[in-house]
Amino acid sequence: MIAIGVPAESAEEPRIGLSPETAKKLVKLGAKVSVRSGAGLRSHFSDEEYNAAGADIVASDADAVKEADIVLTVRRPPLALAKSMKQGAMLIAMLDPYSDAEGLQALAKSGASLFAMELMPRISRAQSMDVLSSQANLAGYKAVVDAAAAFERALPMMMTAAGTVPAARVFVMGVGVAGLQAIATARRLGAIVTATDVRPAVKEQVASLGAKFIAVEDEEFKQAETAAGYAKEMSDEYKKKQAALVADHVKNQDIVITTALIPGRPAPKLISKAVIESMRPGSIIVDLAVERGGNAELAKAGEVVEHNGVRIMGKLNLPGAVPVNASSLYARNLLAFIDPMVDKKTGALAVNWDDELVKGTLIAKDGAIVNAMIAERAGAAAKPAAAPAKAKSEAGGNGAAKSAKPKGSAS
Ligand code: NAD
Repeated sequence: MIAIGVPAESAEEPRIGLSPETAKKLVKLGAKVSVRSGAGLRSHFSDEEYNAAGADIVASDADAVKEADIVLTVRRPPLALAKSMKQGAMLIAMLDPYSDAEGLQALAKSGASLFAMELMPRISRAQSMDVLSSQANLAGYKAVVDAAAAFERALPMMMTAAGTVPAARVFVMGVGVAGLQAIATARRLGAIVTATDVRPAVKEQVASLGAKFIAVEDEEFKQAETAAGYAKEMSDEYKKKQAALVADHVKNQDIVITTALIPGRPAPKLISKAVIESMRPGSIIVDLAVERGGNAELAKAGEVVEHNGVRIMGKLNLPGAVPVNASSLYARNLLAFIDPMVDKKTGALAVNWDDELVKGTLIAKDGAIVNAMIAERAGAAAKPAAAPAKAKSEAGGNGAAKSAKPKGSAS
């Protein structure tokens, strides 16, 4: 029988990595599930619901993790928690693997096997485990809802006896997972939506959602998508053309939602101060890329900046602002990842360390960082091969294919 432990998250994080639904499924797989009392409350999951699902409610984080073979968290937990885990236990979380290298080294030294869900390879088999997508989708939705709430006019066109209320104009910059949901949400609210991206593949997706695609569609644009489906850093010449197009378009927009990211790079600056100054007072910018430096020049992480009557909203952890859905989906992502690790006949833990998804997400084992790229960034040599060492190069390769700072972790 495997033991799964779920401690409480920090005060800043309302999400949790286990829902009553996934607790029930894990118990059905034969696992003993221990949850820290009250850990799910901010997602409105009560101790009683976990209990009814077959989980044990325990009084402290240490009690939740001390016997666990697998510990589930949302964020990177404090070192003390890792130290109270069983030697060699697995910690599965959004570990934000490219930040605070020292802290990560210390966590690795605790001896736990660390899995960073942000590094999940984006292959079809892993779609149900893709935390970046499950969380970014909600962030895109919440960005539009927040903008609509702050906007002091209506979004849909209304024809009334007293006259017509014009539809608001919403511009979405960056049409990945978050951007697509932002477009869909803004359309549902009745706005006139335009969107831009540097990847040609999104053009049809934008049109299918009832929005208009605008972009600098030159030769470089045709080559802008990497094999992994992400955007490249564009040339200075392209950036200039894009800036001119954006300047011309943004001045007529009411709400701009920016989500543009490039793996391994700071967020591209797409909206200059001058462009912000060209917008009408009362306009709103929601910058979802703020954690990676922001797409809008004046955006500040965690703040709403007002400039000439334009508000630039840089709220962090938007998925955490819809914690019930974010936790439910994240918990399902984790369940989908854990399920193949359980031997269905014996109920024992049977991790296939050679599996591409295990290798891709495993960043530390037996006291050392085993992902080459993260080890390099941490200033330490990657551990030479042992059991998961074969995993090292591929895990590192996967890390290289992903962003410098995982965007889904708190966006
Ligand atoms: P992301 O968060 O890395 O970036 C968001 C968007 O910003 C991307 O569409 C990118 O092209 C765009 N962007 C970058 N630079 C820009 C610029 N200068 N101007 C305008 N836009 C710019 O992207 P994501 O949401 O993680 O999705 C990336 C791709 O991965 C998409 O094609 C998505 O469909 C795909 N995806 C695949 C899977 C899977 O197969 N399992 C899962 C999720 C996403």
